[in-house]
Amino acid sequence: PSYVSIESWLDTISHHKNVHPPGESWERVSARLPNTTLTLHYHRNIDDLTNSKLSAVYQTIGSLVGGLAVAFGALCLLGSRLMLNPYKALQASRESLKESNEALQYSAFHDALTGLANRRGLEAHLDKLEMERRQNGGGLAVMHLDLDRFKQINDTLGHAAGDHVLTEVAKLLRENVGPEDFVARIGGDEFVIVAPSVSNVEALKTRAQGIIEATRRPVPYEEHQCRFGASIGVACGEGRRLDAKKLLVNADIALYRAKRQGRNAAVLFSQEDEAEVRLRKTLTDELRSALDHGEFFAVYQPQVDAKTLEIVGVEALARWRHPTRGVLAPAAFLQVAEDLGVVSEIDERILDCAMRDSAVFKEAGFKRPKVSVNVSLRRLRDDQLLQKVKKLNFERGALVFELLESIFLDDTDAVLQHNIDTLREMGVEIEIDDFGTGHASMMSLVRLGPDKLKIDRQFIQPLIDSPVSQRLVASMLEIAEALEIGVVAEGVETLEHVELLRDMGCEVLQGYALAKPMPTDQLVHWLRDGGATRLLSTEALSACDHLFPVS
Ligand code: C2E
Ligand code: CA
Ligand code: CA
Repeated sequence: PSYVSIESWLDTISHHKNVHPPGESWERVSARLPNTTLTLHYHRNIDDLTNSKLSAVYQTIGSLVGGLAVAFGALCLLGSRLMLNPYKALQASRESLKESNEALQYSAFHDALTGLANRRGLEAHLDKLEMERRQNGGGLAVMHLDLDRFKQINDTLGHAAGDHVLTEVAKLLRENVGPEDFVARIGGDEFVIVAPSVSNVEALKTRAQGIIEATRRPVPYEEHQCRFGASIGVACGEGRRLDAKKLLVNADIALYRAKRQGRNAAVLFSQEDEAEVRLRKTLTDELRSALDHGEFFAVYQPQVDAKTLEIVGVEALARWRHPTRGVLAPAAFLQVAEDLGVVSEIDERILDCAMRDSAVFKEAGFKRPKVSVNVSLRRLRDDQLLQKVKKLNFERGALVFELLESIFLDDTDAVLQHNIDTLREMGVEIEIDDFGTGHASMMSLVRLGPDKLKIDRQFIQPLIDSPVSQRLVASMLEIAEALEIGVVAEGVETLEHVELLRDMGCEVLQGYALAKPMPTDQLVHWLRDGGATRLLSTEALSACDHLFPVS
């Protein structure tokens, strides 16, 4: 039984006192509590109580459990006091119950770590503001803030560091909002700011941007500097038909877009967002069933030797055979899969496909098939990954894991390093994918010692006309040379690219100019038909046959 229910019972008693005329009859009040019913018999004329004409009888029906005993004890105490000075005792007990009730209410509506309102507190506040707006009009803005890179802090420095960061963020938010604003922490690293007046939308965005800037300052913890940042989704509304809960949902939608815009961004909710969210929700449901129904498969894009155009490897790329929308590329589902936490599962399916299809490619003339798969950060951390790879049957160097360069931002991560080292011991080659976009430090690259760098297509595509890109690619080739590792150029779209990259000393090329990603059977045909070496004798190349003098 809660204090709340006992208190409301006492309310009933005093209510009786007020409405019943003095008299000699007995009255009975019952309170129904979860496991028991408590009944108090009392004399209607409360003024006569001091004349000891009253006795209180407590009945308990049902079983008394745990905490109920405490409540019952309190009631007995109340009863004995009633004998002496019942009305005064009643008041005193009500007060102490009220205090306990307030403490309980406080903890129900506040977050213990930061002292900010929690989700219930926020909802209560929004309800209140909504009612006010409906009566008096006026605007309301909701900002939904989510810390960037908080998970890494928790994972690498521990939960105490995470808690410290959250407390600091709470402090920072309190300092950065106006006196009328309301701040709540509604989940792990998620905060909500409610601004009760909205002057203009741009001003709101500026405020949000200011908060983001403040979160970008590192927070010291022990000897570490915790760097995180934040993304904010903003939604606002006005008028008597304002739906505050909907604003909260919309701010969340805008937040999602802010996250996708590369973080540290503030995004305002728009109607297009709503349509996108509906699509996302459908995709989420479909994605779950797609995994159960084996709708993911791999397509393969050849990688060729820059000089001979002979195939040297294939990259396996995930595709989803959607029941109604055809074959979908990762751009259509990877983000949703990420949110659902199922990218690892997709990676695993693709690896299985790659292992199975390697044998098929070998038969089709790819003598020593080498297949690369993309591996997400989550999968790389997975304890079971090493066990699974150990069970696979592959020759040393025949399996390549492409890891995004951005994975290596955090050079303090021992688990990651250990997994990578073990994979390499097992004969898996490690390639840094999208090299040049991930901001990994040279030191972390040296420590990792990858087998290859894969230059991101953003640098390759403008290569022909851009001296800047040429210099950048040349520097990346030099870095690879200094590290004594290989280089792959991706996004090689024209034969001019092929020539230029080969002359610059890039060894392996991948891109539409050579071959598009293909399903297994198509790749088999491609291999049987001579692969990219066919290009050496095509008309396209005859125009620039100085490129590949056939010796
Ligand atoms: P990525 O690893 O950079 O893969 C190369 C992407 O570039 C592929 O897109 C490929 O189709 C495309 N591409 C190849 N040649 C050219 C070209 O000449 N020009 C242009 N513009 N694009 C070219 P796709 O298959 O849509 O994959 C997109 C991204 O999705 C991949 O980028 C990779 O990051 C991710 N991905 C694909 N498969 C998987 C997977 O199984 N697991 C994980 N975790 N990520 C995957
Ligand atoms: Ca890749
Ligand atoms: Ca790439």
